[in-house]
Amino acid sequence: GGRLLSPEEQADDDRTLRPQVLADFVGQAQARANLSVFIEAARGRKEALDHVLFVGPPGLGKTTLAQIVARELGVNFRATSGPVIAKAGDLAALLTNLEERDVLFIDEIHRLSPAVEEVLYPAMEDFQLDLIIGEGPAARSVKIDLAKFTLVAATTRLGLLTTPLRDRFGIPVRLQFYTVQELEHIVSRGARIMGVPMTADGASEIARRSRGTPRIASRLLRRVRDFALVEGQGQIDRAVADRSLQRLEVDSMGFDQLDRRYLTTIAMSFGGGPVGIETIAAALSEPRDAIEEIVEPYLIQQGFVQRTPRGRVLTVHAFRHLGLEAPPPPVT
Ligand code: ADP
Repeated sequence: GGRLLSPEEQADDDRTLRPQVLADFVGQAQARANLSVFIEAARGRKEALDHVLFVGPPGLGKTTLAQIVARELGVNFRATSGPVIAKAGDLAALLTNLEERDVLFIDEIHRLSPAVEEVLYPAMEDFQLDLIIGEGPAARSVKIDLAKFTLVAATTRLGLLTTPLRDRFGIPVRLQFYTVQELEHIVSRGARIMGVPMTADGASEIARRSRGTPRIASRLLRRVRDFALVEGQGQIDRAVADRSLQRLEVDSMGFDQLDRRYLTTIAMSFGGGPVGIETIAAALSEPRDAIEEIVEPYLIQQGFVQRTPRGRVLTVHAFRHLGLEAPPPPVT
């Protein structure tokens, strides 16, 4: 826990920090460059943009990019999410309300029910709804034409998407963790917008400890600002940032409590691995999904953990970070 924003924070975020146009969106250079070409081409042809799938860990900007795509296309943006669409009829209602070239955003698309997915296929492919009306012998199927819309979907788990669904996205986009430099940029922009004075090394300290994730960078910036205001002179410099982040239990690598529990458990209880994900989840009393979606991607990217066929294995970096001696390499 602790990485999710409260509704107020989210709203605050949306008003102030969320970039509104592609040019203000920092990072993801390759995705941004490609998207801008496809958007321009679709606009030029006055056609709906091909369906877009954003893939990547939470907080990297999937929703933000979806909104930007709609704005750059100059069309309406409608948003929903996989778990919210309970019945096929719910999706049908959304689809029939779309206008030509509108963007429909479905977050967490990997959590759509199979029945809803069945309705989505012909809608994506032929812009048609196939509905069964009535029951038993009186049942008949009707086809309804839909406006040519763009589905923009987001998922944290590409592996959970069915192949037919995955294949229907003409523009798959994988988002990467942000570099420290990109996060410095985002944090500095945030501080400017919030009117908080901040030194360059203050920005850099927050950026370094944000797990490569803009959402975390924004959240840490807000909390550090609070410490700076109440306990300092209001300015964020490196010392204030460092002290605040320590108080927030964000360590020098930007790992939080759950990251450290994960690493320590594998190190202490399982000799550094290999250990299976189910076993780790049970030992931590955390859902396996959360570990795979939120905890592991960054630890793997940073080279602290490896995913092997026999399970997770800590690297020497992880042991060093925990201040523990790494076990000798296995005899082969
Ligand atoms: P996701 O949908 O991938 O979980 P969001 O789009 O909701 O992520 O982004 C999370 C937060 O991070 C938002 O408040 C957004 O303003 C901010 N954010 C994301 N990407 C960027 C970026 N490239 N530059 C600035 N802020 C960003």
